[in-house]
Amino acid sequence: MAVDQTTILIVEDEPAIIELVTFTLREAGWSSYAVHSTSEAWEFIQRRTPQLVLLDWMLPDQSGLRLLSRIRGDRQHQHLPVIMLTAKSMEEDKIAGLDQGADDYITKPFSPRELTSRIKALLRRKSPEHAQSLMTAGPVSLDPVSCTVQLNGQKIDIGHAEYKLLKFFLAHPDRVFSRSQLLDKVWGDHVVIEERTVDVHVLRLRKALKDAESLIRTVRSVGYMLSEK
Ligand code: CA
Repeated sequence: MAVDQTTILIVEDEPAIIELVTFTLREAGWSSYAVHSTSEAWEFIQRRTPQLVLLDWMLPDQSGLRLLSRIRGDRQHQHLPVIMLTAKSMEEDKIAGLDQGADDYITKPFSPRELTSRIKALLRRKSPEHAQSLMTAGPVSLDPVSCTVQLNGQKIDIGHAEYKLLKFFLAHPDRVFSRSQLLDKVWGDHVVIEERTVDVHVLRLRKALKDAESLIRTVRSVGYMLSEK
């Protein structure tokens, strides 16, 4: 399911590092896209919001730190997970990066294993719907690796949109989301769909969940939530 795959943006100007990082990310099952400057990175982020950014410090047009503060100052992208990748190992640089809002910091040279585990930890922390572990609620379990849903241990048929919706709800249980929030979070900001389409997909999701349909609650005049209570 390519649409559902985690995309990581690499902002780096050293070809050898791009190659190593690209390979490492692919091995870990993520898709990645590499750009060489902060301006290309900003363009990419506007066009196709990635789930995480690996950001080099020293870039040809301006410093990675400048891009980081631009991201953090942007209403739409301020929560984008960012890991700074840099050859600088001095303590004050690290502090500057974290002060500007970097979520984590990796000093070159780093091992592929270290990179992978830092990314996993950050994705788990920032966007649980992109984690790779089994998600459950009552009799329902969703496996993000095989993209399948089980009800009482039996695999069920579920459409792609309903799958994404369920995954989002499972990642944020007991929280109410409005139709427009669900559109933004599940379908992405760049998709034009009417809000009532959300209702159609919620109906289909409930139908797919059969006996467990009551997990998806309607919160009158607000929206929907997943709750076991
Ligand atoms: Ca560089």
